[in-house]
Amino acid sequence: MAAIWFRNNDDGFKNWCEAHSCGFFVNAHHKPVRKYLVLHKVGCPAFKGRGGLTGPQYSKLCSDSIDDQRSAVRRETDTKDFSSICKRCCPPTSG
Ligand SMILES: [Zn+2]
Repeated sequence: MAAIWFRNNDDGFKNWCEAHSCGFFVNAHHKPVRKYLVLHKVGCPAFKGRGGLTGPQYSKLCSDSIDDQRSAVRRETDTKDFSSICKRCCPPTSG
């Protein structure tokens, strides 16, 4: 399944995470830029209990497949890869 961007849709993002507990998401600016594209696993402790996850400053790119996320990031930001990988939830870098 293709990656999904969530913008101004915290409920949608939370529902997606509940349905995809082994999925991944990229934390990006509302208008994604190549220098800020951080890969996380669903359930990352850095986002527990936080609001404003998908707006107005940020958006989230969700997928079960990191490769699908790389493709979506490439399409949207003209970059090849994530800017960094979260050190708290330590997602794998391929798959
Ligand atoms: Zn994380």
